[in-house]
Amino acid sequence: MQSRNTQTRNTRQRALILRAVRSRSDHPCADDIYGDVKKADPRVSRATVYRNLGVLCDRGEIARVKVPSADRFDLRCDRHYHFYCVRCGAVFDAPVDYMSSIDRMAEEGSGFKVLRHRTVFEGLCSDCLLKEGKK
Ligand SMILES: [Zn+2]
Ligand SMILES: [Zn+2]
Repeated sequence: MQSRNTQTRNTRQRALILRAVRSRSDHPCADDIYGDVKKADPRVSRATVYRNLGVLCDRGEIARVKVPSADRFDLRCDRHYHFYCVRCGAVFDAPVDYMSSIDRMAEEGSGFKVLRHRTVFEGLCSDCLLKEGKK
């Protein structure tokens, strides 16, 4: 059984974590969020941040984006695609509408019910392309 104080602290810390994710549109990783939350509450632990990010994702308040490096967190929960820069690790929203027609195509005759698909386009961001050009 958690004490009332512990519960209050948990709720407050989760609210801080949610606010930290929602204040960034750059798809931060858990460590980025930990750094932001720690500024507001130095007593918060890394484990608390990681655990609460999972809880917030399960509740659908934020989204998790799987990329080849560490998982990223997204304030946008609607279905959308991402760009992943293989050089610097930056993650951006891709300007492409979600294509539900692909879900139906995959289902066709398969007996499988597709709920959604996730797409990450891997490549080089404009900053990295620019740096590459200057070499
Ligand atoms: Zn890059
Ligand atoms: Zn996104």
